[in-house]
Amino acid sequence: MNVAENLKVINHNINKALEKSGRKDSVKLIAVTKTMPTDIILKAYTAGQKVFGENRVQEWQQKSTVLPEDCEWHIIGRLQTNKVKYLNSRVALIHSLDRLNLLEKLNEEGEKRGLVWKTLLQVNVAQDEAKAGVGREEVEDFLLTAGNYPFVNIIGLMTIGNLEASPLETRLYFRALREIRDNMLKKGICNSQTFFHLSMGMSQDYEMAVEEGATLVRVGSSIFGERQYN
Ligand SMILES: *Cc1c(COP(=O)(O)O)cnc(C)c1O
Repeated sequence: MNVAENLKVINHNINKALEKSGRKDSVKLIAVTKTMPTDIILKAYTAGQKVFGENRVQEWQQKSTVLPEDCEWHIIGRLQTNKVKYLNSRVALIHSLDRLNLLEKLNEEGEKRGLVWKTLLQVNVAQDEAKAGVGREEVEDFLLTAGNYPFVNIIGLMTIGNLEASPLETRLYFRALREIRDNMLKKGICNSQTFFHLSMGMSQDYEMAVEEGATLVRVGSSIFGERQYN
């Protein structure tokens, strides 16, 4: 696997998709490093990639202490409430806020330490029973409730596409997430200055996600190769 070459191709494809859709804003590529050893992650870093995503808090802890200080870390996997205490200000964004008790726990820890977590609300757009996230109809209530938790700042939405879905279905899921965001802005539930991110798209569908408005894409295996385990 030539990590530097892969990154070049993916950045190129992201720019092409941006152009195709006529977007004037930008997309942040999050290199998903779960299960990958630090020497391989360093290859990406050396090639200029500074933004990384991890699923597990323990793995993030180990890697973030070894890798350079200017790496930007995103937590993208399901977050257990008993792991929140291990997070710190080196976490740039938590993509996987998916339930009320996690909102409460993050707020409690944030208050204790005087820091405000940046998060995305994970939406189960595909209504896939196996996936985490609030339902489409629950987004508005969740965001309104979150207004009462000052140590948690929700700056957008995240979804995980269904691996079994056809490309057309996947596109419609991505579009649905964008429409939910736009609807929340239109209704005045959130403010477009602070709430605009869409985290969607992985190795197999990130270009489509960019065409549908993703501001953050989470790409792992197309950069680092297939994982041996998950
Ligand atoms: C593993 C993972 C990714 C990256 O998946 P690839 O198919 O390897 O690009 C993205 N998002 C989440 C939440 C993941 O767990």
